[in-house]
Amino acid sequence: MRSFDYERATTVEQATSLASGQHSMFIAGGTNLLDLMKLEVLTPHVLVDINRLDLHTIERNDEGGLRIGALVANSVLAADAQIRQHYAVLSRALLSGASPQLRNKATTGGNLLQRTRCYYFYDTASSCNKRNPGSGCSALQGRNRLHAIVGASEHCIATHPSDMAVAMQVLRATVEIEQPDGDLRHVPLQDFYCLPETTPQCENQLEPGELITAVHLPAPVEKSYQAYRKVRDRASYAFALVSVAAVTQIRNGRFSHVGLSFGGIAPKPWRNLEVEEMLLDEAPSEALFEQAADCLLRDASGHGDNDFKIPLTKRTLIAVLNDAARAGDIE
Ligand SMILES: Cc1cc2nc3c(=O)[nH]c(=O)nc-3n(C[C@H](O)[C@H](O)[C@H](O)COP(=O)(O)OP(=O)(O)OC[C@H]3O[C@@H](n4cnc5c(N)ncnc54)[C@H](O)[C@@H]3O)c2cc1C
Ligand code: SF4
Repeated sequence: MRSFDYERATTVEQATSLASGQHSMFIAGGTNLLDLMKLEVLTPHVLVDINRLDLHTIERNDEGGLRIGALVANSVLAADAQIRQHYAVLSRALLSGASPQLRNKATTGGNLLQRTRCYYFYDTASSCNKRNPGSGCSALQGRNRLHAIVGASEHCIATHPSDMAVAMQVLRATVEIEQPDGDLRHVPLQDFYCLPETTPQCENQLEPGELITAVHLPAPVEKSYQAYRKVRDRASYAFALVSVAAVTQIRNGRFSHVGLSFGGIAPKPWRNLEVEEMLLDEAPSEALFEQAADCLLRDASGHGDNDFKIPLTKRTLIAVLNDAARAGDIE
């Protein structure tokens, strides 16, 4: 690990000011950042510790939703009574990630900003456009079992690894960001992440020195069916090969609300509006679910090792929709 300066911020203003210099990074739980520093994938000159900031609470917001502080631990969020009752998809997604020890340390902000698990990104001897722009992408012709089947580019086919972000997207979350000049801005999670295109090193909308202070969830969709189905190589302690987050509602035998979000298949939590619209106001049926899955995967392409994700995603989506249909009208 390269040597670095360590600063402990006690106010948000101090944190953004300390981190606005070049080569500065925030550290929260450190469960991803420290691994990357040990491997010298990241070599910040200054680490700004944000753990003393007042960002540890979950509060009701003015719109009947919740404001989740950026430092709320994943385990605390998963266990929160309001989250379990009204946003069950989020609780289930969090509990499907990592291990209890990691979830105790991992934070809301850090989870959103964790980096891809592409093997070549962590191996500084390999070419990787995300780590070293212009050097090439070893995964294209290499081991790409974990990699993307939609939304990728010829410059990078890595997936975003966060389960939490997939669930937050289906719940229509917004990210609250404090800028170094003290202004706040709010970005819908759906617009927060960037696709790789020609610049895979740019992963999200954050500017230097900007701090995620919270995530806002809108008021819950009452009487909804919520599910997070994660398919992975082991029953626990593994990243998603494919995951589906669903929030649906059936009224009088037809879908009256459809929210779907996908993990493990794209460089960001994936959403397809056409698929949601195709299901909305329709009566559940196997034929409709097939049609929706085919629409989702119309432009999907594998890269060898990960070809299996295309039929796997189709089967997983259809299974989740069948469960939603079986749950039926929820009174
Ligand atoms: C073995 C292992 C298995 C795992 N399995 C899963 C899994 O199955 N599913 C899953 O979703 N995750 C999994 N994880 C990832 C884990 O959830 C993340 O490492 C964790 O959520 C990151 O949070 P952190 O607080 O530790 O972030 P840190 O490591 O402290 O930071 C991560 C990044 O976020 C930045 N950052 C942190 N907070 C802020 C903020 N408020 N504003 C701006 N920037 C910020 C940091 O500068 C850094 O770039 C696993 C991790 C490990 C090590
Ligand atoms: S897929 Fe992306 S992260 Fe992986 S080697 Fe290629 S450029 Fe790097």
